[in-house]
Amino acid sequence: MADNYYSFRNLKFLTHELFKLSELNRFERYKEYDDEAILMALDAARQIGDRLLFPIYEEMDRKKAYYDKGTVFVHPQIKTIMRSLSAGGWIAAADDYEYEGQQMPLSLLNAGLYTFYAANANAAPYAFLTQGAANLIRTFGSEELQKTFVPKMYAGEWQGTMAMTEPQAGSSLSDLTTSATPTAEGHYKIKGQKIYISGGDHNAVDNVVHLLLARIEGEALGTRTISLFVVPKKRIENGELVSNDVNTAGIFGKMGQKGYVAATLMYGEQDDCHGYLVGEPNRGLPYMFQMMNEARIGTGLMATGTATAAYYAALQYANERSQGRPPSNKDVNLAQIPIIEHADVKRMLLFQKSVTEGSLSLLMQLSLWADIEREATGDEKEKAGQLLELLTPIAKTFPSEYGTQAVSASMQTMGGAGYCDDFPVEQYYRDIRVNAIYEGTTGIQGMDLLGRKVTAHNGKSMRLLMEEIHSTIDAAQQVEGLQAYANKMIEGVKSLHQCTMHQMQNAMNEKAEVFLSDATLYLEYFSLVTISWQLLKQAVVAQKVVNQEDKHHDFEFYKGKVYAMQYFLNYELPKTRGLHDRLMSKDTMTVDMEAAFIN
Ligand SMILES: Cc1cc2nc3c(=O)[nH]c(=O)nc-3n(C[C@H](O)[C@H](O)[C@H](O)COP(=O)(O)OP(=O)(O)OC[C@H]3O[C@@H](n4cnc5c(N)ncnc54)[C@H](O)[C@@H]3O)c2cc1C
Repeated sequence: MADNYYSFRNLKFLTHELFKLSELNRFERYKEYDDEAILMALDAARQIGDRLLFPIYEEMDRKKAYYDKGTVFVHPQIKTIMRSLSAGGWIAAADDYEYEGQQMPLSLLNAGLYTFYAANANAAPYAFLTQGAANLIRTFGSEELQKTFVPKMYAGEWQGTMAMTEPQAGSSLSDLTTSATPTAEGHYKIKGQKIYISGGDHNAVDNVVHLLLARIEGEALGTRTISLFVVPKKRIENGELVSNDVNTAGIFGKMGQKGYVAATLMYGEQDDCHGYLVGEPNRGLPYMFQMMNEARIGTGLMATGTATAAYYAALQYANERSQGRPPSNKDVNLAQIPIIEHADVKRMLLFQKSVTEGSLSLLMQLSLWADIEREATGDEKEKAGQLLELLTPIAKTFPSEYGTQAVSASMQTMGGAGYCDDFPVEQYYRDIRVNAIYEGTTGIQGMDLLGRKVTAHNGKSMRLLMEEIHSTIDAAQQVEGLQAYANKMIEGVKSLHQCTMHQMQNAMNEKAEVFLSDATLYLEYFSLVTISWQLLKQAVVAQKVVNQEDKHHDFEFYKGKVYAMQYFLNYELPKTRGLHDRLMSKDTMTVDMEAAFIN
């Protein structure tokens, strides 16, 4: 069943063979997590996905969430799903044992999360958004806030949200105007409007806890004057839940993820909305970045999960559908062949396989660094932290952008059947699209990568990444059959380095508009090299198995891994040449051209 929407075998390859998550048990925090415990957790995740999430995926689209007279109605199973993910320990998983958590490494948690998203990226986000919000309170909130809100959120009884966006402040959070007025009682009075708030209100929970950005009255506009508040839909008074003057004006009609609500919320229309400050005033944005960075990895996982599910649907179809004959023998007396035998269909499937397996690998790599950063000390901690920071925009964007292309290829693989709603791929196509928009658009991620991450720590993060990639290249050069690909990788890294140097010169010599004008293309370029590296890293393990004289019982799996890498380095990595030309060019037309010429 599970292998209908993802490959358990592939996940185990990543957790047990490539990243060897059990080696994290050298840290006291993770000492319970040996190979067997990790496998058990993945198996438990698979059962929840199979039993609860996957069966209602299509239904959540057909019977979408709706708003009626002030109430938001979601699929009736969401309540059970929230409670079951909590009972299975998944919402609190990463927290300490003493807070009902399981001290689960993020790398394992995210492996599980990927399977939930592959099963149903309309249902699972309710729980994992709650997890992120609770984690934010746990990290920066007072003990009282933690005691009041976190247990109910971990129980899946209260929804958590991330309430940032306003009509005039989307990408530009420095323009947000929701206000917070201090009161003598210690709380703040919140007033303002938030839009597109995921999980913002619904009937599967008893309360909604907004982690909301607002500006304390009297503070000037800008990013350094934003504070973070806990603003519940219902506050507690004398032990009872009472209205906190948070009203839902409606929900958005969306292209995809129709079962996952995005709401417009009005705070303090009756001047009675209480907000509780988290941490210190004016530190809201740096605090929120903890949740945003986690959410960016989460978005990458969601996109990868959706693209994976579409890939397996297309793969199954390509095996079952017969059409046409080999170009060299079109005798109509011969039976038609399965479409998977056609080279062009194999190409489309290899694209989907390499994009999804490369994305998942990168996301696991980052999650592992997050675990190491949390527990290690000294240079090891610093290195893991810097690499995680550098590659987060890529881990969010590549799966979202190339994942969308991959689902388009899934649809193309299936022809008319892919386009029609008897099959799930048209839904995957609609559902995946938002990932490149929320949690910071692709354009914003590009500017983050080029304008901040690449130059951070005096370029040390980049040097650390180059060392990592070169160590994979060295390993590949030792494996028979991989030398040619190691050489392609050397070329790729060299040209990325040259292009990066050129960008750094632009940063010094040109105005910021020119420097950042093609940041999105730079992000794509960087992503193609990064994903090639991850696929080569997988191929180093796989090719060694392939080279063994006695054929491994899983020979096809390992050989398939090598083919995915070969495809990506032969077909996708060369696209960096065009990007290289553009990025090295002195032409500045998009900066110079007046908007009037495209109006
Ligand atoms: C379904 C859905 C769910 C969401 N969930 C949440 C949520 O839970 N919480 C929350 O707070 N928000 C949420 N959002 C909001 C989301 O984060 C924003 O939509 C996103 O950040 C982009 O903001 P915007 O829509 O205002 O687009 P805009 O900021 O108007 O951007 C439009 C275009 O202009 C580009 N652009 C903008 N500024 C610049 C710039 N300075 N330089 C170059 N290009 C630029 C963008 O890249 C984009 O291509 C959600 C959105 C959707 C659609």
